[in-house]
Amino acid sequence: MATQDVLGSIVQFSKLDQLLNLCRANSLWPMTFGLACCAIEMMATGASRFDLARFGAEVFRPSPRQSDVMIVSGTINKKIAPAVQTLYDQMPEPKWVIAMGNCAISGGPFVYKGQYGVVEGVDKLFPVDVFVPGCPPRPEALIEGILKLEEKLTGTRRWPRVAPIPLPGPAAA
Ligand code: SF4
Repeated sequence: MATQDVLGSIVQFSKLDQLLNLCRANSLWPMTFGLACCAIEMMATGASRFDLARFGAEVFRPSPRQSDVMIVSGTINKKIAPAVQTLYDQMPEPKWVIAMGNCAISGGPFVYKGQYGVVEGVDKLFPVDVFVPGCPPRPEALIEGILKLEEKLTGTRRWPRVAPIPLPGPAAA
């Protein structure tokens, strides 16, 4: 094959990859999976007030085989760590990980001198693509993490930062 043909195929493959990543970024499928209190905020992110569907990532899948994003939302005890690792291993490639909250990032408030029961960050188990700090992070912060992941896939930022959405006040009498 001539050098020009080889270069042409590389360019085509590169464009196909860009196209696939654009499609992936617009239809991320997170795993239905939570570990502790941060998972409550993750569930709120998928519900109507924060409406994760606006960004194409609301189809939470009940199986790791059908998921391409693991949102690690909560504390990872050493006892549960092997199960978390198995779930990650069962996800097909390509796959991405968001560490949501201080526990998933570093063990959070449960890390203190002499602690022995908590994994000090999910990146001790497998690679993490985006870190979303907070205890817990608000849904807007998780959305920002998902937009960062989309940005990582496509190389461009398509959406502005989501402004804080006020919580509902007391019901009118
Ligand atoms: Fe709970 Fe805070 Fe840990 Fe999240 S970071 S799981 S809210 S203790």
